[in-house]
Amino acid sequence: MTDSSIRHPSLEGTEIADSILDLIGETPMVRMKRISAELDLECSLVMKHEVTNPGGSSKDRPALEMILAAEASGELQPGGTIVEPTSGNTGVGLAIVAAQRGYDCVFVMTDKAGKEKVDLLRAYGAEVIVCPVAVAPEDPTSYYSVAERVTRERGAFRPNQYQNPHNATAHVKTTGPEIWRQTAGRITHFVAGAGTCGSLTGTGRFLKSMNPDIQLVAADPEGSVFSGGSGRPYLVEGVGEDFFPAAYDGDLWDQVIAISDEESFLTARHVSQTEGILIGGSGGTAVAAAIRLARDARPDDMIVVFNPDSGRGYLSTVFNEAWMANFGFVKECDQCVGAVLDTRNASIENLLYVNPQQPVSDAIEIMRETGVSQLPVCKNTPPFANAEVSGSVDELALMEVIHRDPSAMGMSVENVMGAKLPTVGVGQKVELAVAMLETAPALLVLSGGRPLSVLTRSDLLSYFTAIAESVTAHDDEEN
Ligand code: PMP
Repeated sequence: MTDSSIRHPSLEGTEIADSILDLIGETPMVRMKRISAELDLECSLVMKHEVTNPGGSSKDRPALEMILAAEASGELQPGGTIVEPTSGNTGVGLAIVAAQRGYDCVFVMTDKAGKEKVDLLRAYGAEVIVCPVAVAPEDPTSYYSVAERVTRERGAFRPNQYQNPHNATAHVKTTGPEIWRQTAGRITHFVAGAGTCGSLTGTGRFLKSMNPDIQLVAADPEGSVFSGGSGRPYLVEGVGEDFFPAAYDGDLWDQVIAISDEESFLTARHVSQTEGILIGGSGGTAVAAAIRLARDARPDDMIVVFNPDSGRGYLSTVFNEAWMANFGFVKECDQCVGAVLDTRNASIENLLYVNPQQPVSDAIEIMRETGVSQLPVCKNTPPFANAEVSGSVDELALMEVIHRDPSAMGMSVENVMGAKLPTVGVGQKVELAVAMLETAPALLVLSGGRPLSVLTRSDLLSYFTAIAESVTAHDDEEN
């Protein structure tokens, strides 16, 4: 039975929403009082908290607007299928609207997105296809390519949130007017993370139409194109891009502030614990940028930071101690892996690596000159702010390759490289490194989510020898 064939009794006079779709938008705004006090801020720092949308994120708004527009244009027919590549939140919005209006949904995601997000979409009855993040968009296994193929095969409607003008329109129609009304027109700055750019550009268009002096500020992960990067795969989800989506509007935006993964995650945790507002990594990116502005703001400034979703979707990442420690964002102990590296002054500037495009002969020369037996393969280096690890090479494997085919000396390293080295965080326990080195020849030590150094058995031997010697020396002194 279709919805239109049923006669529903009237709910007039009640406060009951007609369907879940009527509960999208009208999200609350809240002052960040404790953070403001802690940082001695003079201005008002407030959050537009999108978590109370039915799907728990800001993306319910564009999901509804894009589907209504497709119905109106005839692109989406009754009982049709919706296909979208999404990191999760837009998918939830689309799944909710699809359930309510009788469509099937297929979502294509990268393996960078949290497992909870995949499970969540499946919970709404959607089909989810997971693709590797570490491939170029034109690769047939990339999530862009897979989404194209599935759309074709099923004759589906593809909202294409990156190109669809109704994405930003949703925020022009709803988010902007809500913020203007809720702040009584006192807003001076609007800060939001940018993924598709719909939130910042759409909300910003409305706000500037009311007051052109309102400053629009994008909070961008370091390495993403909006802040001048190349689109390196940073860890924060949902924001930053390696291309410019249709809603990107550099002329409208007043400022872009680049924020590291480390600052995003630590800020998300701090806001959650200080204010009791559980926010995710990209919310952390936005708050971190808002705090930078707030430090220099005037007392009558009102900085509104857009929080797109809840920290609940990041319990296995941002709020998981082992995950955070493995990337070197938090320390588990005092005498940890970092202490081993200190004994030989390891630093990111001294990281030995080879580029994927360099010839094998270069890799061999570096190893011979420096006496190491393995190298990580890194692109975008230097500077290391952009370091992206793609694999590793080791002495033994190269020896076998060249023995089989001497012309391999001239081949690119990427054609002969092996898997990435297992990683250990700079703040993880030395015991963990010892256990891992029983099976791996070397480990890549991460600090702040980035490669710092390679750790080998001989490093650990030197470290333990140094400790043993200092204990012996101490004993000798006492005797
Ligand atoms: N944060 C999260 C978690 C998101 O899913 C998104 C949407 N990709 C954003 C921020 C950015 O919003 P927008 O796409 O409107 O720029």
